[in-house]
Amino acid sequence: MQQYDTIIIGAGHNGLVCATYLAQEGQRVLVLEASDTPGGLAATREFFPGFKASVAHTVSHFSAKVARDLKLAVHGFDSATAPMPTVGLNSAGEHIVLSGTGAEAEINGVSAEDATSYRGYRQLLQRFAELLEPFWLKTMPRVGDTRLSSLLTFAQLGLKLRLLGKQDMGEFMRVATLPARDLMDENFDSELLKAMLSWDGLIGSKMAPRSPNATVLALLYRMSGELGGAHAIPVGGIESLIGALNSAAASTGVEVKTGARVGRILIEGSEDGLRATGVELANGEQIVAGRVVSSADPQRTFLQLLGVEYLEIEFSNRIRRLRCEGYVAKLHLALDGVPNFEGLAKPDGRMIIAADMDAIEFAYDDAKYGNYSQQLVMEILVPSLHQESLAPAGKHVLSAHIMYVPHKLKGGWTEEARAILVQLAIDTVAIYAPAIRAQILHSELLTPLDLEQIHNVTGGHWHHTEFSADQLLMMRPTYEAAQYSTPIPGLYLCGAGSHPGGGLMGGPGHNAARQILG
Ligand SMILES: Cc1cc2nc3c(=O)[nH]c(=O)nc-3n(C[C@H](O)[C@H](O)[C@H](O)COP(=O)(O)OP(=O)(O)OC[C@H]3O[C@@H](n4cnc5c(N)ncnc54)[C@H](O)[C@@H]3O)c2cc1C
Repeated sequence: MQQYDTIIIGAGHNGLVCATYLAQEGQRVLVLEASDTPGGLAATREFFPGFKASVAHTVSHFSAKVARDLKLAVHGFDSATAPMPTVGLNSAGEHIVLSGTGAEAEINGVSAEDATSYRGYRQLLQRFAELLEPFWLKTMPRVGDTRLSSLLTFAQLGLKLRLLGKQDMGEFMRVATLPARDLMDENFDSELLKAMLSWDGLIGSKMAPRSPNATVLALLYRMSGELGGAHAIPVGGIESLIGALNSAAASTGVEVKTGARVGRILIEGSEDGLRATGVELANGEQIVAGRVVSSADPQRTFLQLLGVEYLEIEFSNRIRRLRCEGYVAKLHLALDGVPNFEGLAKPDGRMIIAADMDAIEFAYDDAKYGNYSQQLVMEILVPSLHQESLAPAGKHVLSAHIMYVPHKLKGGWTEEARAILVQLAIDTVAIYAPAIRAQILHSELLTPLDLEQIHNVTGGHWHHTEFSADQLLMMRPTYEAAQYSTPIPGLYLCGAGSHPGGGLMGGPGHNAARQILG
């Protein structure tokens, strides 16, 4: 007997967003999560007795609309948290600090010329980000679709571009596909400033400052929220976002089952063709539903859970060819006290370690050939300064994104390779916080391979599948599955591998629900 209208695979933030929208409209929804806790890559977990961290450690563009629609404030999420400063670390303690947002944005530690350029640069990029913002929460029209609703989406984009004025319109067309390096070189002199500003166009992707592709688009995507591209840890931490999503889901009647791994999607054939009718759990239990919505990544959904035998060869080949190898590793340190970064009164910002764009480019070059760099580039935080419950009283957690660490390391992820990387990362942080070594009680390294295994994300990829020009908008993850429906009736996508992409935003979950609800 069919007990549910919809089964959602995965209780990451997008699965929960999609489930709640559907339940708000009266659907009976079951969410099945393989892990023991909801949250996916944003789940907070204990990595050492008393010390907790989440893989995703800041919020920069969570959709205000989703927060409003799902009443997340009532459920404990404060989307209006003040942004934290972003600090470009300098080994002589002469750091660059970006703080505030919008009209209150400030820059310290650069020349007067760079400070002036920064104001102009921010305003221009903010206008471009605002132009794109409505499209992140819209279903992109199917290639070749001439229905009125699709034509209106293109017309709206055209109109918004036109309203930018002739000069900005031309600039937008030029800048949107520039390599980050060109954009930075055009605007600034300080090498450190260029590196830190390019960071948000690159993190999570297999691209570097010289890559011509979607790095500026990624920057604009991350600038789309109310924080204007700044980063925050909400009151109560990332845990408060996932807690609020879980609570909002429960309040609308969504059932979330954790420890429930889906083994396969059930397909029935009739004279009308194939249809997804439910799922089979890894323990053999079958659950039927009107539709199945997967927040698992596209390769996992189509190649593992569905099976290529149900797909046209061209489509399954395109899914096979998706680029989804992650290049970001996580390092979590349990610390005996607050680390002391030279030249900073308190390490309560998001700190970038990348002296210049070449340091980023060279680290990427190593990763392209299956190695990690000997000169690591990193983003580090002390989240326990914002959320005390992450560590016992007086103790702290350091959370670091290490950029370009390959999923497939040449020679494999042996214990030795892992230990060398941990040591290298600690040595890198110690350049800026020399006393940190003596404060370390425990370290945890999560390579992209670990992220794949722990969080059930192919390649351990930040966006589930690369955020690149050929895998974006109406091609994300590929045409025929870019409108959340798939070639199999009754099967939909709602995770980061769908438009608009990854990061804690809620866009794919929101758009998929709207598409399903019609
Ligand atoms: C190293 C790293 C750092 C990041 N840092 C940040 C950050 O600081 N800020 C930010 O905004 N973003 C960050 N991101 C990106 C962000 O975490 C992801 O894009 C986002 O969490 C994706 O959400 P999702 O709901 O689409 O998918 P996920 O969070 O991946 O959730 C998918 C869920 O599906 C479940 N699942 C998969 N297969 C099955 C199955 N067969 N049965 C049942 N369940 C299944 C998984 O267990 C998982 O819980 C980071 C990503 C990485 C890899």
